[in-house]
Amino acid sequence: MGKKKNKIYILDVTNRDGVQTSRICLSKLAKTIINLYLNEMGVYQTEFGFPTTHHESNYLNANIELAKMGVLSPIILEGWCRAIVPDIELATKLTKVEHLNLSISTSQQMLTHKFKGRLDKKGVINEMTKAVDEARKRGIKTIGVNAEDASRTDMDYLIKFASAAKDHGADRIRYCDTLGYDDPFAIYERIKTLVQKVKLPVELHCHNDLGMAVSNSVAGAKGAIDGGVDTYINTTINGIGERAGNADLVAVVLALKKASGLKDNYGTLVHKIDLRKTWKISKYASYAFGIPIPLKQPGVGANAFAHESGIHADGALKDRRNYELYDFEELGRGEPEIIETGRMITTGEYGGIKGFRNVYGKLKVKFDTDKETAEVLELARYANIQTQKPLVTEELMFIAKYPKQARKILTVSPVLIR
Ligand SMILES: [Zn+2]
Repeated sequence: MGKKKNKIYILDVTNRDGVQTSRICLSKLAKTIINLYLNEMGVYQTEFGFPTTHHESNYLNANIELAKMGVLSPIILEGWCRAIVPDIELATKLTKVEHLNLSISTSQQMLTHKFKGRLDKKGVINEMTKAVDEARKRGIKTIGVNAEDASRTDMDYLIKFASAAKDHGADRIRYCDTLGYDDPFAIYERIKTLVQKVKLPVELHCHNDLGMAVSNSVAGAKGAIDGGVDTYINTTINGIGERAGNADLVAVVLALKKASGLKDNYGTLVHKIDLRKTWKISKYASYAFGIPIPLKQPGVGANAFAHESGIHADGALKDRRNYELYDFEELGRGEPEIIETGRMITTGEYGGIKGFRNVYGKLKVKFDTDKETAEVLELARYANIQTQKPLVTEELMFIAKYPKQARKILTVSPVLIR
């Protein structure tokens, strides 16, 4: 096998697929902190929200401001909408979004039973290409076209669909295994065939209904690389996503970098991910979502580096490689966490100035004027109204450092229906 020049990028969709999941919520502040963490970790792109949804506008625009300030950089902030012209118009009217993924269903199941005859195969391509043209016209810099339910779409049509997207200037095609229907063998072949025919970089969007989201993602990435294109794996933090979830960010990177058949030829192609940020981002997402990290979660689970049975404990103590494939330090684990057991002063929704000063004093943050102190206290109150759980250091630091953007993120006004 010759030397491969293409790359594997991580495109995290926690702030879109993660938050749209049933019974799961994130405040706009938490979404912002997650974007900052993803950026710190070296994730290439974050699908940061829904630019056609009114309550996202301030959050999205404030995050775009942070990008322009160099705070949220170099990560790419990309929004998700439907591949229809009115969505492109609304997205670019409500927000300053510069990168978009446009989604439309491509499987016969969805054509027949979702569109109910309104759109046939030709109609879908027509709708999609018009949307791509509109996005281009409006200056969108990166356009991804999402084939929803791609894994249940017949190959000839998928090739036709992707070719049309490419002809109209789309930068990527997103292959959505929307129902988690693929398996590693099938997706490898399908992706390789697709990219060899169309020569367009491909995104892999895999769900976990059969427990194979991670394996399908890496198998698809292998297919894309072998087929000669760049590839973008869609992940979410802790695998949170619709139904059984999406491909877990950490597990995908670990699989590429540590698995026997992947690490040397594919793991080296992963675009700069700093796994030492793993612990921090997983813990924060777990807190913000209010969903514990499963005991056996790869890399970050409480048992990922725990040994008890006689032979295992003895072996691990003699040489960690006996029973550990990688080191916990690589994932940013092993640092002691300090938990206050005595008096605790917090600040939040109903906090006052004295408590507030105490909290920020401990974080070594000083405010220049009383006006500034009062302003950040007000923001801390509103931040807590949004999060409805104790504010953590990252959140407190963010509102103190970027009060203008924090104010925007915390401002949500329901649209008046006339
Ligand atoms: Zn999805």
